[in-house]
Amino acid sequence: MNSTTEKRIALISVHGDPAIEIGKEEAGGQNVYVRQVGEALAQLGWQVDMFTRKVNLEQDSIIEHSDNCRTIRLKAGPLEFVPRDEIFDYLSEFVDNFLKFQVKNELKYQLVHTNYWLSSWVGMELKKIQGSQQVHTYHSLGAVKYNTIENIPLIASVRLAVEKQVLETAERIVATSPQEQQHMRSLVSTKGNIDIIPCGTDIQRFGSIGREAARFKLGIDKEAKVVLYVGRFDERKGIETLVRAVNESQLRDSKNIQLIIGGGSTPGNSDGIERDRIEAIINELGMSGFTILVGRLSQEILPTYYAAADVCVVPSHYEPFGLVAIEAMASGTPVVASDVGGLQFTVVNEKTGLLAPPQDVNAFASAIDRILLNPEWRDELGKVGRKRVESKFSWHGVATQLSELYTQLLQPVQEPLLLAK
Ligand code: UDP
Repeated sequence: MNSTTEKRIALISVHGDPAIEIGKEEAGGQNVYVRQVGEALAQLGWQVDMFTRKVNLEQDSIIEHSDNCRTIRLKAGPLEFVPRDEIFDYLSEFVDNFLKFQVKNELKYQLVHTNYWLSSWVGMELKKIQGSQQVHTYHSLGAVKYNTIENIPLIASVRLAVEKQVLETAERIVATSPQEQQHMRSLVSTKGNIDIIPCGTDIQRFGSIGREAARFKLGIDKEAKVVLYVGRFDERKGIETLVRAVNESQLRDSKNIQLIIGGGSTPGNSDGIERDRIEAIINELGMSGFTILVGRLSQEILPTYYAAADVCVVPSHYEPFGLVAIEAMASGTPVVASDVGGLQFTVVNEKTGLLAPPQDVNAFASAIDRILLNPEWRDELGKVGRKRVESKFSWHGVATQLSELYTQLLQPVQEPLLLAK
């Protein structure tokens, strides 16, 4: 890079605050991604500012995470939680406040990396207003999502149009898996520049504790067969499939089996409603004696849960990437996952876990049983999974690839030399 070019980047994540607790309401993979990428980029020498929407008056407007890495909360609409499908109308206020922040701090972001379609609109406005270059990560594609849900929200047509426009106009799109890239091409547009750079995970944190020590810490019996779910409560996550699959397991009545469901919820909100629905199914199937809903798990305690489990199940109807799968693999725990999206990229069938058709209770039950009934194979799958994550999915590796991409984009365009006559 030209020595006069600043290594400054704005990561924009309007609805996914990188500084809040993960696992509750709508906070999930995107929040983790932005935060981890931000911190890893700062370690590589970037000045990283992560912009998000302020959701209550008490929240700090600026949080310093580490040297050169901070979260900046801008006002856009009411100072309260607003579901993501209702945020679009407040985006122009977000852009205005972004511009005011720049003026006040005498800054101008030449490069913005936007996350999710809402932020992509902000990035496209900044391009129009001040010529900022844009890198975009979708995290979820409307064209795929609307195929998997029944109630299509009113905002769908706007989202689909914005997603097409950003693919065709951003300097670079980051697909997190080859599967996501294919979907962009087949369902969104054949135009635009796409690079594949996966999501990552903290390979020091996940994998820092062994199974026995983890079970001791959590008070789980050595002989127990532990099946784990980690994630948000959202029907699309397929927790019902997992519960019904464990109910079909050969080990169901063995007294050894334990189903642990981790993830937070808020009563009355959509995730609270899904939690109640799942709990009702557990009770109806008579599984409450060996099933525990442990609530939101902090990133500090999560490695212990993954390590304690015999198998981690990711039963999503669709998953653009699926951080939980690589977190479990980094912890040496095999994964049984739906044969969809990014999970087809992260989980290698028969090598690091097993893939099953989404919502197929019997297929999930037999995949879970194959692993639970064969501890040696379980350990082998776990080892290969750990190696795969080390070599492909560390945050440091991901941030290094992003850093190279940003550097390339910020390179001043070379004027073609005038040929001497
Ligand atoms: N997560 C967490 N605590 C919980 C539940 C989930 O920290 O109780 C984290 C989990 O570790 C992962 C993220 O939330 O990093 C979920 O990301 P994923 O890509 O699997 O799903 P998404 O939420 O993006 O649909």
